Amino acid sequence: MKLHEYQAQRILMRYGVPVPAGDLATSVDQVRQIAERLDRRVVIRAQVLTGGRGRAGGIRLAGNAAEAERLAGQILGMSIQGYTVSKVLVNEAVEIEREVYLGIALDRELAQPVILASAEGNVEIAEVARDTPERVWRKPIDPLLGLRVYQARELAYDIGLEPEQVSSFVSIAMALYRALVDHDAFLVEVNPLVICPGSHMVSLDARMVVDDNALFRHPDLVTMRDETQETEAERLARRYSLNYVGLNGDVGCLANGAGLAMATMDLLRAHGLRPSCFVDLGSGATKERARMALHLALSSRPRALLANVFGGIAPCEAIAQGILAACQELSLAVPLVVRFAGWNAQEGRRLLSRPGVTLVDSTFDAVRQVVDLIGEMGPVRPQLLSEGAQIP
Ligand code: GDP
Ligand code: MN
Repeated sequence: MKLHEYQAQRILMRYGVPVPAGDLATSVDQVRQIAERLDRRVVIRAQVLTGGRGRAGGIRLAGNAAEAERLAGQILGMSIQGYTVSKVLVNEAVEIEREVYLGIALDRELAQPVILASAEGNVEIAEVARDTPERVWRKPIDPLLGLRVYQARELAYDIGLEPEQVSSFVSIAMALYRALVDHDAFLVEVNPLVICPGSHMVSLDARMVVDDNALFRHPDLVTMRDETQETEAERLARRYSLNYVGLNGDVGCLANGAGLAMATMDLLRAHGLRPSCFVDLGSGATKERARMALHLALSSRPRALLANVFGGIAPCEAIAQGILAACQELSLAVPLVVRFAGWNAQEGRRLLSRPGVTLVDSTFDAVRQVVDLIGEMGPVRPQLLSEGAQIP
């Protein structure tokens, strides 16, 4: 789950990271009041869960309260990459001498956190790392030892900070690491970290992404979820307790149990295919959840669907009923391969024996069928849904 900037800013403030003074507003009146109270130049910052707000006109500098009110009128209600702005952060404007990047992210290949810094701020760090890796400095963090002060200090020198700037940088880096660990975050990022005249530092733009699977032990974070900033698919998946991850490939992949879903995707990849989504029905799948899973899988615009189900806690038959219901609602136009094994597999197969559905017993056969189906299609994407079909 991504946190809003104002939420991340409040968290980092509690860890001693210097942030600009300010407050959150949902109306132009509130913006004016906050700007009057701050009584200096302010920056109005659109709160949307996407980057590049500055370029989109979502970050504007105002000289006084009247101008702040006028600019807020333009920003509130605007759309940035499909996200509507309903809240703005009003921060005191900061005088910038230099901008740098500082972030800590979970590196899935190293399977440990990595602290990253760059001599330039306000950058898309993944792009910089890809195109000019020599401009990104990184240190893997041993999770048992945590971030060591010497690592943060080395990083400060790597990005060319002046000796008198190093200790603030180190304290901020240490604070970011504590915030990351305490909140089970995948990412804590300050972009840019600003060096002001006189060498003190301010976090200008904070970002945090926390692990959904750890939310059960962070009741304070659960209340921070902003449903207005989720995609329709994400919202539905959460409502029906399905794990949904949108991907960019061709095969809509559903399975009951994350392990089975992962194994199925691995097999697809081994055959040169890529999943368009991952939908995990969970162990106690019901007809209703299976129905919604199919809807979600189709929203990822696959060329073929693969449902890999082992009837253990839930019978295959219940899942078949859900799939059948969704097929009928959608007048499914995408080929569907279903593998049923375990409890009531036979009954499940009987329910789904209809045109457009290929029924198999094993995961290997299921993947082979999908490979053949996609091979026959060639490069053209088929019509996915009948006219007017929608996710209910
Ligand atoms: P983003 O576009 O969503 O990443 O938003 P940022 O907060 O990173 O703002 C983008 C850029 O706007 C920063 O890198 C700064 O150059 C500029 N900016 C934002 N806030 C201030 C401020 O308070 N003072 C000054 N001088 N520039 C600012
Ligand atoms: Mn930024």
